[in-house]
Parts: sequence; C-alpha cells; structure tokens
Amino acid sequence: MLRSPILAAARSPRTRSLVEHLPPTRAIVDRFVAGDVLDDAVRVTRELVGTGRKVTLDHLGEDTTDRAQADATVDAYDALLDTLGETGLARDAEVSVKLSAVGQFLPGIGERTALENARRICTAAARVGTTVTLDMEDHTTTDSTLGILRELRVDFPWVGAVLQAYLRRTEQDCRDLAYEGSRVRLCKGAYQEPESVAFQDKGDVDRSYVRCLRILMEGKGYPMVASHDPRLIAIARHLADRAERAPGSFEFQMLYGIRPEEQTRIVEQGDLMRIYLPYGAEWYGYFMRRLAERPANLTFFLRAMATK
Ligand code: FAD
Repeated sequence: MLRSPILAAARSPRTRSLVEHLPPTRAIVDRFVAGDVLDDAVRVTRELVGTGRKVTLDHLGEDTTDRAQADATVDAYDALLDTLGETGLARDAEVSVKLSAVGQFLPGIGERTALENARRICTAAARVGTTVTLDMEDHTTTDSTLGILRELRVDFPWVGAVLQAYLRRTEQDCRDLAYEGSRVRLCKGAYQEPESVAFQDKGDVDRSYVRCLRILMEGKGYPMVASHDPRLIAIARHLADRAERAPGSFEFQMLYGIRPEEQTRIVEQGDLMRIYLPYGAEWYGYFMRRLAERPANLTFFLRAMATK
C-alpha cells in the first residue's frame, strides 16, 4: 500500500529536498550506502572482500538530462576502476552502471551518448580486468538498454544485464539471453510500473521469478540471482543442483546492508555471493526504492525523525 506513494516521491524534487535535509536521514542512508566518496567505496569493498564476498560497485546517480553530469559520472567510474586495478580489488569487484546516469535521457542524443559513455566505462574495466553490469531501470528503458547491451557485447562479451521478473516480457528476455557467456542478473524489479507491462501481485512476481530462474539455470549463460527472499534463494539453489551447475557457474547477489547474516551463510555454504555497493552523493532515488521495498524501513525512518 505504501510502495506506490514512496516510489512516486522517489521522483519528486520537492520531496527530495525535504528528505535530504532531515537530520536523521544520513544515519539511515549509511545503512545502504558506502559513503559519499571513492575512499568510502574502497574501504567498504575491502571489508566485504575480506569476508569472502564479491562486490559490484554503483556510482550513485540516475535520470540526468545534463551532458556535463553524464560525463562526470563516466569520469567517476574511470577513477573508480583505476583504483580497483591499483589496489588489487578488481579481482573481486566489478561495477554496475545505470544508463540514465550516463546520458540515456539526453534529448535527441540519449541512446548514442549512453552507448559511447558505457563503452568508455567498459574500456576502463577491460584495462583492469574486471566486468560491467548494466542496471535495469523503468520499463520505458528496457528495449534501449538491451539494444545498448547487444552493441557493447560485440567488443566486450562479458557485459552483463539485469532482467526484472515483474515485467511480463521477462520470461522471453531470459530465453533470448540464456546463451553461452551471457551474464544475467535476475531481480524482482524496483520501479512503479503499470499493470499493462508488469505483474502487480507479489505472488505473480515470485512465480515469474521462478519461471525465469529455471530458464537461466537450465541455459548456457551465467545466472546472477539477485534477491533477499529466502524462498527464492532456496529454489535457486535447488534449480542449480538440478541443472548440475558447478559452484562458480552462477552467483547470488544482495544489496549492501540487507540480510548480512544470510550473505555470510551463502559464502560459508561455498557459493559465490556478490554485494551491490552504492556510493556517492546522489543517493536519494536509490534510498527511496529501499524504503519502498520494506515498510519497516519507513517506520524506522519516521521513528528516528520523531526522536530528534
Ligand atoms: P522482497 O520480497 O522484496 O524481499 C524479501 C526479503 O528481503 C524481505 O522480507 C526482507 O527481509 C528483505 N528485504 C528486501 N528488501 C529490503 C530492504 N529494502 N530493506 C530491508 N530488508 C529488505 N531492481 C531493479 O529494478 N533494477 C536493477 O537493476 C536492480 N538491481 C539489483 C541488484 C541487486 C544485487 C539486488 C539484490 C537487487 C536489485 N534490484 C534491482 C532490486 C530488486 O528489484 C528488488 O527491489 C529488491 O531486491 C527486493 O526484492 P527481493 O527479491 O529481495 O524480495
């Protein structure tokens, strides 16, 4: 019930300014975000890698219509990737990129700019021997993002994509992307979507997730199971066994700050566990989606405000 208004607020500049300036916000944001600057990202990456977890780093930002901001995001990824190379962390850490942060929404030249910028990021990743995964945003961007993925994969065949189980089209997208060398992160989906394109009922989304998982696990690609849902994690493990997948031929993924004990359990059972680690000052949209996923987070947030 609260999901829709919170997701609507995630795109409201007025609410953004209000939330960003509330005194207790920072402490709660820190639960989900490494910090504002590159040093924070490196410090937390090192901690996670030290406990056997892999990492995918996201330089926060999205929905830009400003060319200079898109270029600045690419520069930030460039610096991040160089640092991962210099510190030896590139062995265990890759990057995740939102195409809307690197120009996908620039009027008239969006797709071309996003492709060029994503290419620059992929070149930097190749230089230090790591990989890139393209995040998936709302359904209006799915075709464009998958088109850019196809182009990038000509030169960088290791570029990964995200598919969202709540979209009705995703089963077919899974079939299309279940080929050898293809890295697909399957998640439920975090945006507010109309019924015409997306399942609205949680049970329907979960059932779609399982159908998609089955396709990916039985396929030839590299499935990345992005969920905190214990039932889906157990089903993924079962499907991996049934498809006779060796450890290392798929991985689990979770968001930084969510279910850390379960992250450790998965590492201890011998499976790969990768943590999505965001950093940067543009945390608002990301943070609001985390509030929308779990009403308890909102209660915690409101209670912290009341005690200030
Ligand atoms: P849920 O049913 O939402 O949650 C299951 C359980 O996990 C909950 O009961 C709770 O215990 C815990 N949990 C879940 N969310 C939270 C939270 N915010 N705070 C505290 N506990 C929580 N979505 C996109 O649309 N595009 C992307 O590119 C994308 N990339 C992602 C990358 C990774 C690695 C992950 C893990 C998720 C990503 N998502 C992305 C978000 C995803 O779509 C879901 O919104 C999110 O993962 C919650 O779904 P769930 O599968 O964990 O199941």
